[in-house]
Amino acid sequence: MPPEPASQHLKTIAVVGGGLSGIAAALALARSGRFRVTLFEKAAGLGGLCAPVSIAGTVADRFYHVILASDRATIAFLAHLGLAGEIDWRTSRAGFYGRGRLVPFASTADFLRFPFRCPIVALLRTCRQAGQHQDHRRDCQ
Ligand SMILES: Cc1cc2nc3c(=O)[nH]c(=O)nc-3n(C[C@H](O)[C@H](O)[C@H](O)COP(=O)(O)OP(=O)(O)OC[C@H]3O[C@@H](n4cnc5c(N)ncnc54)[C@H](O)[C@@H]3O)c2cc1C
Repeated sequence: MPPEPASQHLKTIAVVGGGLSGIAAALALARSGRFRVTLFEKAAGLGGLCAPVSIAGTVADRFYHVILASDRATIAFLAHLGLAGEIDWRTSRAGFYGRGRLVPFASTADFLRFPFRCPIVALLRTCRQAGQHQDHRRDCQ
């Protein structure tokens, strides 16, 4: 009798959900060499919350996803999937539109300069003004 192929000794395992968690789990199980893995995904494609969406022919992020150079686990995971070369690093630009203009909101300086009503910024401004007021009083004495 011919020997059974090695794959017949593998346990069969199902992973439900093809988002990042399911892909990572399926990949780890398959790479362990101990399981035959089937990944079940109810949507048309993989990716879950991270999957892109097509709007009038334009492919866009479903949500405002971003990874930073400090996200080592995510970058290592992408490399594991052979996708490291696909990462397109860009300088982040984010802003708020209000009172007819777009105001940048990507750095600490932008945060401190933010002109629209925001309780935290208002509080910081009040503290800064109070500090300046005290400095002024000290200078006058
Ligand atoms: C607005 C927003 C912004 C975010 N921004 C960031 C970010 O900038 N950076 C970051 O790292 N993370 C971000 N996240 C978090 C990130 O999207 C999630 O942590 C991650 O995608 C979750 O992956 P998951 O696989 O655990 O779940 P999901 O992505 O939800 O995947 C679950 C999958 O299971 C499938 N499924 C469910 N039930 C069944 C079933 N019965 N049978 C078969 N398939 C099924 C679903 O269709 C889906 O594909 C953001 C999330 C949101 C909502």
